[in-house]
Amino acid sequence: MTHAPVPPGATLGFLGGGQLGRMTAMAARTMGYDVRVLDPERDCPARPVASHTITAAWSDAAAAAALATGCAAVTLEIEQIPRASLEAVAAIAPLHPSVEAVYTVQERARQKEWLASNGFPLGAFRSVRHATTAADAVAALGPSIVKSAMGGYDGRGQVRVKTPDDGRAAFESLRAPVCVVEAFLDIAVEISVLVARRSDGVAVAYPTSRNHHTDGVLTWAVTPSGVPEALESRARTLALAIAERLGVVGLLATEMFVLRDGSLLVNELAPRPHNTFHHSERAHPTSQFEQLVRAICQLPLGGVDVVRPAAIHNLLGDLWTNEEPDFTRALAVPGVRVHLYGKKEARPGRKMGHLSADGSTPDEALLRVQAAYRALTP
Ligand code: ATP
Ligand code: MG
Repeated sequence: MTHAPVPPGATLGFLGGGQLGRMTAMAARTMGYDVRVLDPERDCPARPVASHTITAAWSDAAAAAALATGCAAVTLEIEQIPRASLEAVAAIAPLHPSVEAVYTVQERARQKEWLASNGFPLGAFRSVRHATTAADAVAALGPSIVKSAMGGYDGRGQVRVKTPDDGRAAFESLRAPVCVVEAFLDIAVEISVLVARRSDGVAVAYPTSRNHHTDGVLTWAVTPSGVPEALESRARTLALAIAERLGVVGLLATEMFVLRDGSLLVNELAPRPHNTFHHSERAHPTSQFEQLVRAICQLPLGGVDVVRPAAIHNLLGDLWTNEEPDFTRALAVPGVRVHLYGKKEARPGRKMGHLSADGSTPDEALLRVQAAYRALTP
């Protein structure tokens, strides 16, 4: 169903006021929209940007309905919201992406089965509901990662295993009703593609980002990725096909693995802004945050060519030891900007902000952001 354009000046609702909600809210504000947010945490990062913030649990469907009331459109920065709350929003205001698209993606086993049944390329996996079937899966797949189907992010809720006994123990330790056991893949490079899609089906795919993870958490990302042109075009075509089949309105990030044998596999999907595209604020005419606003408001989508190579480096809470890091050191590196999310409490592993840098080449952008990061580490 094609929605009418929602012009600047209207009110947009956000399920989730973390850093993704905050940066999208800032882009919406720049364009003249009013912003309302719902988040379980009172002092969420988007609060200073929103004109109205509701503090409530994700399971609070009445609060979700209250957010939607008076909004011309509602979007989200987190997919793990109970279906009843999504439906409560959709009954009042257009929710982009739709309940169905979010529901399909929000549980890892359901998402992987949907991808597989639609013929999209995946590594070998099994959905398991018992410790014994987890052990059987590891026996069949060899060295694996056991991932809980709900609630995991940034590598949490995952255990790397070698033997069936490890698989059994991992399933028990995760205490999740459903897990996915994935064969451990021989990855040459990780890339991601971000697609923006409007309700009338018009869609664009950003050039691929190359991403580096440490212990399951994103460390840095750089664009353009530098993968060969044929792979680049395969990846973008694949991501566009997934977004189309899912019927996503808004953004869809597709994380992909390029294996050493050259094959291209989907890792996972996220129907929202994505950490690996924070450099879009530097590299493209249109950031992912502005693009999300354009897509959900049925406005013309903005340009996605790389006008300048750029990279980001995450800042995790571990960097906050006794005091704030000295950001003047990072800012002394040419081309570097500091992005902080306004989180009051720094916990190990918590994403507190990121550094971005541009450069005349992707390598220069990456070296700059890495130098700036090193300058922050004591
Ligand atoms: P995030 O929320 O940061 O995207 P997540 O918790 O959803 O992470 P995944 O994307 O499933 O976790 O995995 C995180 C990282 O772990 C991947 O980017 C990759 O580096 C590694 N990884 C995941 N699955 C596999 C696999 N099957 N084989 C090898 N490495 C993997
Ligand atoms: Mg991931």
